[in-house]
Amino acid sequence: MFDVVIIGAGVTGGMLARALSRYRLSVCVVEKASDVACGASKANSGIIHGGYDPLPHTLKAKLNAAGVPLLYKAADELHVPYRKTGSLVCAFGAEEEKPLAALLARGKENGIPDLKLLSGDAARAIEPALSAEVTGALLVPSAGVICPYMLTIAAIGNAMDNGVALLRDFAVCGIARDKDGFTVRAASGDTVRGRFVANCAGGFADRVSEMAGDDSFTLLPRAGEYLLLDKTEGTRVSHTIFQVPSAAGKGVLVTPTADGNLLVGPTADAVKTPESTETTPAGLAKVATLAKRSVPSLDLRQVITSFAGVRASEKGGDFIIKMSDTVAGLLQVAAIDSPGLTASAAIAEYAVELLGRAGLPLEDNPAYCGERADSFAFRHMSDEEKDAYIKAHPAYGRVICRCETVSEGEIRDAIRRNPKAVDTDGVKRRTRAGMGRCQGGFCLPYVRRLLAEENGVPCASVTKKGGESYLTVGKL
Ligand SMILES: Cc1cc2nc3c(=O)[nH]c(=O)nc-3n(C[C@H](O)[C@H](O)[C@H](O)COP(=O)(O)OP(=O)(O)OC[C@H]3O[C@@H](n4cnc5c(N)ncnc54)[C@H](O)[C@@H]3O)c2cc1C
Repeated sequence: MFDVVIIGAGVTGGMLARALSRYRLSVCVVEKASDVACGASKANSGIIHGGYDPLPHTLKAKLNAAGVPLLYKAADELHVPYRKTGSLVCAFGAEEEKPLAALLARGKENGIPDLKLLSGDAARAIEPALSAEVTGALLVPSAGVICPYMLTIAAIGNAMDNGVALLRDFAVCGIARDKDGFTVRAASGDTVRGRFVANCAGGFADRVSEMAGDDSFTLLPRAGEYLLLDKTEGTRVSHTIFQVPSAAGKGVLVTPTADGNLLVGPTADAVKTPESTETTPAGLAKVATLAKRSVPSLDLRQVITSFAGVRASEKGGDFIIKMSDTVAGLLQVAAIDSPGLTASAAIAEYAVELLGRAGLPLEDNPAYCGERADSFAFRHMSDEEKDAYIKAHPAYGRVICRCETVSEGEIRDAIRRNPKAVDTDGVKRRTRAGMGRCQGGFCLPYVRRLLAEENGVPCASVTKKGGESYLTVGKL
């Protein structure tokens, strides 16, 4: 019997697992996919939102404001790359300047530091690529960009290093309550027992809640489509550029990413399921047009890929983070749409507090270590240090991904350390091998061979992303 079973290995479940590993508790994360960070946490804007947008006094407002410094701290401890870019919310004409002033007032009420209204010219002075049509902007200095899946992977890896168990391919299909706790059943027939269950199932949190006997909320999936541009466009802007938000969301942004690419998007369209992650010609055309409105010089010939992520929104508009009103011991961490990534460390703290109040004993774990070794330590070495390191460890001298300069040594590390990469997408998210301009055209077969070697399995059994996603079907 675990003290806590967490359902869902996205950034919410991952940060909660890490926060719980500070205490003398047995914790298990169950995830239906073959890897962690396979839901919304792998496909979003990656913005650390300043916190001017959520309505004051909501959970979103409180946890966004509290979450920004906590997230930067967690990223430092976990060695997850981020950049404090600051953001600019741009108005095009007098009509859009009124909402800007309202956002400034809201941001101040939410306790966000150093917000400032700029004229169009002042905005262009710090961001020269901005459109000449921009007449005013709200500067949000505390905003930044982070790689969302690397944060999730690092949080879960750190939690595992501190004793948390991770069960993959565990698609929860039933939850039964008895006097001692819960039996959580997977589609495979496997079960785990837990005194408490934390529902961190992203877009499926309403269904998971229903399985436990609480049908108090319904989630509305809304997709966001993106275009990702090559690093040649990565310095086109230095801030995250927003347009004035509307009822549909924060609008289309143009932003450098933590890894040096340029990202434009997202749309905000209702879709059927949280798994509707296909992109559409109409969605991508809309993203391109709106992005060009902010930054007309964007070179959209440099697009290297497109993707979509699905938000898990609830009609009330706020996060749902509370102990279930009807099922004792069930913690809901649901409707975690934007700014859920930004707020993730604060959400985890709040969730731990709720579990503590519900009777989970929170006694310090003296062996806890919040630091995780830097996955990119080799990349951060000087040329001399690299030379010396390669002499001792020749695998770091063999470059597998030419676009992103990822070595065999780094790929083997990703397959060996918590949470181990088990497929080629998993290696890609951990090392960036396959993220570059050729999108894996060159390195994929080599990555596959390394996965096969490390796991002692035939190459043919290696998948792209678990299940039946084999990379080859046989010999011709
Ligand atoms: C388009 C878009 C843009 C966004 N931009 C930003 C941004 O810039 N900044 C920001 O702060 N936030 C942003 N967000 C919000 C942020 O991405 C989410 O708040 C965050 O990723 C939610 O994490 P999660 O762990 O709750 O959900 P997920 O990452 O979806 O994780 C849930 C996990 O539960 C698993 N699961 C589901 N059902 C089951 C089951 N039955 N059994 C076992 N496992 C199950 C899933 O496989 C998944 O891995 C954006 C979201 C989207 C979609």
